[in-house]
Amino acid sequence: MKITNKLTISIDTLLKYDRPGPRYTSYPTAPVWDKDFGPERFKAKVIETNSGKDLPPLSLYFHIPFCFSLCFYCGCHSIITRKRGHAAEYIAYLKK
Ligand code: SF4
Repeated sequence: MKITNKLTISIDTLLKYDRPGPRYTSYPTAPVWDKDFGPERFKAKVIETNSGKDLPPLSLYFHIPFCFSLCFYCGCHSIITRKRGHAAEYIAYLKK
């Protein structure tokens, strides 16, 4: 298999994503938050999604805030470190 560094993206794909998007650090993303979605609907959704019915998969996002270097576009809470052990310790706390 030949590996190249060439990347081909169609103009349609570029135009599709050539617009500001919501930050990805919350789901659902902030633009779709709804003031009608209060504690009662949240509770109902928790019950529904734990009912065992044929529901779509649940997606979770966990931000591991330890990075080797700071990306110039980063808006996340990040701690710059070369110590990989921090992430393992953090994940252990998340599991608890
Ligand atoms: S510095 Fe920010 S954008 Fe870059 S990997 Fe870390 S969290 Fe992600």
